[in-house]
Order: sequence, then C-alpha cells, then structure tokens
Amino acid sequence: MSLFNDTKLAFADKSTQQLEKAKWMFTMIQYPAVTNAGIKALNFTVQNNFPFVENLVRNTLFEQFCGGVTREQSMQVVKKMFKHHIGSIFDYAIEGKEDEATFDHTFQETKENIKFAEGNPAIPFVVFKPTGFGRLDLYAQVQSGNELTSSEKAEWEKVVGRYEETCRFAYEKNVILMVDAEETWIQTAVDNLVNRMMAKYNQEKPIVWNTIQMYRTGRIEYLKEDLERARENHYFLGYKFVRGAYMEKERLRAQEMRYPDPIQPSKQAADDNYNAAIGFVMEHLDRISAFFGTHNERSTKLIMDKMREKGLENDSRKIYFGQLYGMSDNITYTLGEQKYNTCKYLPYGPVKDVVPYLTRRAQENTSVAGQTGRELALLKKEIERRRNLR
Ligand SMILES: Cc1cc2nc3c(=O)[nH]c(=O)nc-3n(C[C@H](O)[C@H](O)[C@H](O)COP(=O)(O)OP(=O)(O)OC[C@H]3O[C@@H](n4cnc5c(N)ncnc54)[C@H](O)[C@@H]3O)c2cc1C
Repeated sequence: MSLFNDTKLAFADKSTQQLEKAKWMFTMIQYPAVTNAGIKALNFTVQNNFPFVENLVRNTLFEQFCGGVTREQSMQVVKKMFKHHIGSIFDYAIEGKEDEATFDHTFQETKENIKFAEGNPAIPFVVFKPTGFGRLDLYAQVQSGNELTSSEKAEWEKVVGRYEETCRFAYEKNVILMVDAEETWIQTAVDNLVNRMMAKYNQEKPIVWNTIQMYRTGRIEYLKEDLERARENHYFLGYKFVRGAYMEKERLRAQEMRYPDPIQPSKQAADDNYNAAIGFVMEHLDRISAFFGTHNERSTKLIMDKMREKGLENDSRKIYFGQLYGMSDNITYTLGEQKYNTCKYLPYGPVKDVVPYLTRRAQENTSVAGQTGRELALLKKEIERRRNLR
C-alpha cells in the first residue's frame, strides 16, 4: 500500500454525501469538452446574475474548493483541519479584476488576514497574488524596462506601497507572508520587489517569502544568486516551491512572440528540476526555509526522506508542505497525522467573484494528467469502504 493511500484518514472530515458529490464532479471535470463548455456557460450565467446557476456552483465547485464566502465562515473548515495538525492559508481568491478599488480591497483583505493569523498556529501563513495588488500589464511594462508614463509611475508607486505596507504589517505582527508566482513576463518585476522586502524584513528570520516555479528553466541558477545576495546582506530566505501553473500560456506566448520557451522541455525535466530544488534547500538550511506546494506524491516522499537524512524533526519550522483545499487530501492528512507542518490553501470570497479561480481548478484537473484519475480512485475507494461497513 502506498504511503498516501489511507482514504479513511484522507476523508475523515467529509460526509459520504460530500464524497458522492465530489466523485460526480471529478467525473465531469475529466472530460475537456464538458469542462470547456461548462466554463463558458458558467462565466456567462454567473456574471449575468442567474441565481439558479450561482446556487449550483455554490453546492458543487465552490463547496469542494473553497472554505466559504468570508474568512469568518471559513473558520469552521480551519478548525476541523487543525484537529488533524493541518494549517490553513486564507486565499482571497478574486481573480481577473483590474481596477484600483479591487486592488485596495485585496490589500485590506490581506492585512485583515494578517491580523487574523497573528499568534494563531492554525493559520501559519498569509498569502497574496501579485496581480491582486496591481495590473498584469503594468508589471509587464515595469519588467520590460520601458519608460513609464506619469500616470503609470503613480500607479506603480501605489503597487509598491501596497507591498511595503503589507510586508511591514506582517513583520510587526510576526506573521509569515508569502507572495504567489505568476507569468514569467511579470515575474522578474515581482522578484525584484519581493527581494527588496526580504532584505528589509528578513534580517532576523524569514517573514517575507517568494515563490519559485521549478517548471521554468534557469531557476536553480536564480536560487544560487539569491542565496549569495542574502549571505552578503545578512538576511534569511523563505520560498514556496511549486512546479508552475501557466505552462500552456507560457509556451503559446513564447511561440507567438518568438523568444525561447521559458518552460522545461518535458514533465520529466520539470520533475527533475523540482527535485533539484529540494536538494538545494536541504544543503542550505542555515539560510533557507521552504514550503513545498505540491500534489506530487514522489516529490513529497523525497522531501520526507531528505528531512530524515538531515536529522530534521517532522515538525521542523524549516520545512512546510502545502496542497490546495479540495485536492490531494490523501497527502495532506497523511502528513498531518505524522506531524509534518502541512497546510491547505483555503480560498474564500463571494461565489460570483471566485468563478475564475474555480474554473482554473477545473481546467487544471482536466489538463494535469493523472490528477483527476487519482482523486476519483481515492473517492471511489472510500465510498466503497464506507458501504461495506453498513
Ligand atoms: C499550495 C500550493 C500553492 C501554489 N501556488 C502557486 C503559485 O504561486 N504559482 C503557480 O504558478 N502555481 C502555484 N501552484 C500550482 C502548481 O504550480 C502546480 O500547477 C500544481 O500544484 C501541479 O503540480 P504538482 O507539483 O502538484 O504535481 P504534478 O501533477 O506532478 O505536476 C504537474 C505540473 O508539472 C508541470 N508539467 C506538466 N507537464 C509538463 C511538461 N510537458 N513540461 C514541463 N512541465 C510540465 C506543470 O507545472 C504542471 O502543473 C500551487 C500549488 C499548491 C499546491
């Protein structure tokens, strides 16, 4: 039996009805044609206020992948998971809105999340997405090095101000703040900003953490440079390591704009690169702390093995694991039971506004070979196990 096959443990918090619903949903998601047609219909009907559809989404995708509409509502889930030694990371999951009012609101939400997390071991991290604080095209413009117009300069100052204030607040409250990673054509602008924050706020310990996508080429070299800079300037590094979520988009843009593909040539190469990052962290634990955001069982096992080799306790504050709420409970709950530091990203927000997040999850489960099959097999196994108990 694989280490992560205990479905009784994995679904301890789920009713049989919830499992049946999840099984139905993952079965639907499996078919790209169904998913794509569903997404089109969903975006249209939800944005045009069809309450029936909103209710349907609330009872299916939303219930599976989100904690609730508000942070307070999501606390029920937080408490349940913490009983299994699983932390929660609130993720204000509004995507695709690009006006200043939404950026300000996301910034305030992030600060509220920091207040909520202060001194609360059930919420070990707070996170935000770069495009939650500013426009994608603005980051791209900054990264390109082109001269900004005066209104763009003012807009960028606001973005920088939001980073500054959020990081300072996290530092004052002693809460770890993690910044997500997005498209390569904005990531250098993000990295530069986050590096500045790390140099400022990580002098005693890693408070500000960046995200590194290991499906990219050249990221080990980047890590080496970061480490050198951190040693020279005496600060600590915190990183979330992921494979990366924008592969199709990245490849398409590189092809269209005729620049070298920034993504590793194959899944195997991306896996090797991810595992190289695990090795890199383990060799530099004096300066680096890491959060491995992955649903990959082999990588997870490798991290556990390396921790043992290095003599780290399972709950060493140097290493965290993370999965998304609604996915890979078999990994999260197994890690939790063995007292590893493990967390779930717990998205929340108004149903209508989190639809882009939900459709991304649906698409990911269609495109990530094997993931849906794995979820379905586990769900079926647990439903069967419960049926046999009757
Ligand atoms: C807690 C958490 C936080 C996350 N935060 C972020 C974030 O900030 N930014 C972000 O971009 N993503 C983020 N992700 C998503 C992540 O990048 C992956 O898309 C997702 O987790 C699937 O990868 P995996 O390691 O779980 O497993 P696997 O299923 O083993 O790997 C699938 C991944 O492998 C890569 N891949 C697949 N095929 C190929 C190929 N042919 N060539 C090259 N690479 C390939 C892709 O990255 C794909 O997503 C996060 C995930 C988690 C669990």
